[in-house]
Amino acid sequence: MADSLVFEDVTFSYKRSDGKNAQILKQLSFTIKAGEFVSVIGPSGSGKSTLFRLISGLETQDEGKIFMNGEAMKNRLGHIGYMAQKDGLLPWLTVLDNAALPLKLKGLYGKEAQKDVMEQLERFGLKGFEENFPHELSGGMRQRVSFLRALLSGSELLLLDEPFSALDAVTKMVMQEWLLEQWTEMEKTILFITHDVEEALFLSDRILIFSETPVERLGEITVPLGRPRTVSDLKNPAFTMLKEKLLMDLKKMVTI
Ligand code: ADP
Ligand code: MG
Repeated sequence: MADSLVFEDVTFSYKRSDGKNAQILKQLSFTIKAGEFVSVIGPSGSGKSTLFRLISGLETQDEGKIFMNGEAMKNRLGHIGYMAQKDGLLPWLTVLDNAALPLKLKGLYGKEAQKDVMEQLERFGLKGFEENFPHELSGGMRQRVSFLRALLSGSELLLLDEPFSALDAVTKMVMQEWLLEQWTEMEKTILFITHDVEEALFLSDRILIFSETPVERLGEITVPLGRPRTVSDLKNPAFTMLKEKLLMDLKKMVTI
């Protein structure tokens, strides 16, 4: 498999309000292969969202290199499907306009594209809601519009930052299974931030763990479950044991 994303000795720090430099990443290196589903887990404030902002080009590293598909692209913004923690939908735009935003921004929203977006909306269970506004939708539906918008960016790499953390348990489960179906069908590479250990294990091929700040090396777990996965895999003893271990590891990292 080709490399989708490579971090090579990446260092990032920001200036705190007291003027001191706070380092978040210290010569961090890791690789994500094309087509992988990788979760990123770690205590809040450890720098997970910052990692996504670096990947998408919203922040710039102090040192080191970030490669996408083998290229050290300077301007990655617009080349990555980024779904932020809050769904990020614009309240004054309809479902259709929100979903089609990346195409409009690129000037690619002609008749053909319009037809394509309508078809995708149907596939995503949003038919009949094209002209509704985000506040008229359920949480799961808003997440699907947001996900569709990330997809329509055309990027092979999707960054999803705690997309399901605000959903109730049942909707979350349904969305997780739905996401796995989309991922399998579309052959995308997904990086997925979560603080939910079970979610990370259920979805991922690998889990990367932020265990210290600044992060010099990410912990890594390969999930020993086949695919396709269903809810019943959550009862698999290997799964339960790994979940307990991961929870214990994370518990050690939390200071209260
Ligand atoms: P996580 O997503 O793991 O909860 P974040 O990546 O959001 O953590 O943030 C890590 C810490 O770095 C937070 O305390 C955040 O406020 C801080 N931080 C990151 N980038 C900046 C920045 N450019 N300016 C100010 N603070 C920042
Ligand atoms: Mg975050």
